[in-house]
Amino acid sequence: MWVFELITKRGDKVKFTCLRCGKCCSSGPNVSLTASDICRIAKYLSVNWRDLAGKYVYAIIADYIPIVVLRGVNDKCVFLKYVNNTPTCIIYPARPMRCRLYPFLPIAPGENSKLEVSARCPGIGRGDIGEPPWGILEEYLKEVKNHYTKLYELIFIKGIEPLKALEELLDTTCSLK
Ligand code: SF4
Ligand code: SF4
Repeated sequence: MWVFELITKRGDKVKFTCLRCGKCCSSGPNVSLTASDICRIAKYLSVNWRDLAGKYVYAIIADYIPIVVLRGVNDKCVFLKYVNNTPTCIIYPARPMRCRLYPFLPIAPGENSKLEVSARCPGIGRGDIGEPPWGILEEYLKEVKNHYTKLYELIFIKGIEPLKALEELLDTTCSLK
């Protein structure tokens, strides 16, 4: 049976402060990305999205759907560096939506009023009490829906090969940003 950790819902308040421990950026390549995430990172680094492919992000294909994830190096996110001995995200202003949401985790594409709370984050239960980031969740859900709706259409309706479809989606999204 799949087990959810703590679930928080609209109206709940949660005690949380980020301790800058870097644990969430040190668990291997498990942050999935939408085209919007990738284009924001490319823009922030002033590069074409193609310059990120393979070096910073890569795609795995599951049932014809390409899933893009952040690359891990020695089980750490490729964008995590130590500055004055403090774990630091070097693309912080353009970090992926899932990183912005953490330690809150989206539950389902249509679920905008509940979030899972990661039990792995030592900052939960510390610091100020506040609302989970519902605004970021709404934005993320829109971007995820847009990403997979377009990919599905390109792959299953138009019959484009998965990686070509991803390229087409990224070219279109990045040209709009
Ligand atoms: S695991 Fe929690 S406390 Fe540590 S850096 Fe990530 S969000 Fe902050
Ligand atoms: S992109 Fe930044 S915040 Fe996200 S896992 Fe990597 S280092 Fe951490």
